[in-house]
Amino acid sequence: MDYVLNFNIFVFMNIDQLYDIYRQYPSVQTDTRQLKAGDIFFALKGPNFNGNTYAAAALEKGAAFAVVDEEAYYTQPDKMMLTNDVLETLQQLALYHRQRMNIPILAITGTNGKTTTKELVSTVLSSAFKTTATTGNLNNHIGVPLTILRIPADAEIAVIEMGANHEREIAAYCQVALPTHGIITNIGKAHLEGFGSPEGVRRAKGELYDFLRSTNGTVFVCNEYDYLLDMSKGIQTVITYGQRSADYTGQPLADSALLSVKVTSHEEIGQIDSQLVGAYNFPNVMAAVAVGLHFGVPADKIRQAIDAYTPSNNRSQVIRQDSNTIIMDAYNANPSSMKAAVENFAGIVAEKKVLLLGAMMELGEDSIKEHQALIDLLERTHWHAVVLVGGDFIKTTHPYIYLENAAAATAWLKQQQFTNTHLLIKGSRSMGMEKVIA
Ligand code: ATP
Ligand code: MG
Repeated sequence: MDYVLNFNIFVFMNIDQLYDIYRQYPSVQTDTRQLKAGDIFFALKGPNFNGNTYAAAALEKGAAFAVVDEEAYYTQPDKMMLTNDVLETLQQLALYHRQRMNIPILAITGTNGKTTTKELVSTVLSSAFKTTATTGNLNNHIGVPLTILRIPADAEIAVIEMGANHEREIAAYCQVALPTHGIITNIGKAHLEGFGSPEGVRRAKGELYDFLRSTNGTVFVCNEYDYLLDMSKGIQTVITYGQRSADYTGQPLADSALLSVKVTSHEEIGQIDSQLVGAYNFPNVMAAVAVGLHFGVPADKIRQAIDAYTPSNNRSQVIRQDSNTIIMDAYNANPSSMKAAVENFAGIVAEKKVLLLGAMMELGEDSIKEHQALIDLLERTHWHAVVLVGGDFIKTTHPYIYLENAAAATAWLKQQQFTNTHLLIKGSRSMGMEKVIA
């Protein structure tokens, strides 16, 4: 196969040569602030920066090599490569690397719970295999190739998170990662602006199944979601997990803030006592159980790995402050994750329950309707207090307290001096709801 990048007369190298350099210097960096000596620097462009302008500085800082796409910055031909498009070159190099690895790659996408599932699955796999996984939330057109380029030659398996705001993105990531296995965590409402409609969301996430269908791949499907079972038809190997009878079946025990799971189909696992909040994490835990057992991770290692996993990034953390229990879930919010969090909170047995909910973003023309639907859901339960913060909450009718921003919510909370109270704090990332308890 010919991987010559383009026909620009300034291109002196092709992808084989770049791959040779990468093999010698297998650490790729796109940010000069984090660059280490011996890295290969990829001069990406963003809306507010042009990586090309940093290429010379990267070499000065010890980068082994730099890839640029503007001739004006192609100043050291012995240590630089000029391409038409640095991002495309990064993606092509990742594909080239992937094609030289004979390992399973599990791709994870979905509306909610991708990172949690990815982390649970990868801690389980790491207890038995040399595993590479997406770090943090690097799940986009840059993060996916960077993750692939972090997979070392002796890796045994990799887990890659794929996020999407538009159709065709997951399909493109699959063309770079060539996954052999896949999970769609669920399909709900998020990024409706980019997808246009709920069907658009379904088509976009379904691109992972489409890829695996056409490559005789394997999918792990939560059998509580009929739409996923439906969408997975025709895929060579479909492995199910969930509460109903499945290949891997379990029951959630979620009357306290933290979720426990009893795996009934494989009793050797016993009871898992997770550090995760909420019944909505049950499918995430079961996904890790299913993947672990499928790949032959010993049962006790699976249980220990999940028991020990604590989420970071304000992703459903339980924080105890004096006599109060705070469920901090300020990492993101969309109609389906809000619904899951509120329903879960309603199910927790506690004396006083208080909600501080930041607005949901990126909902397009449905935004007010979705905020109103959330209020209708809230009204079904008696709460000690509900505070709605910012965004389109201002355009809804409700009997609750409305405050403009997280700072106002912080001041309100200070005044209340709550004791023996359970608090749910959730909102879109940009609402900064985590500041409320600082
Ligand atoms: P992002 O799109 O930002 O990458 P993500 O899909 O990776 O998000 P996580 O970071 O794992 O999702 O979780 C974000 C939030 O989604 C959690 O804090 C929780 O509120 C909610 N969530 C997690 N799992 C589920 C689930 N199975 N069903 C519904 N909501 C969930
Ligand atoms: Mg994520």
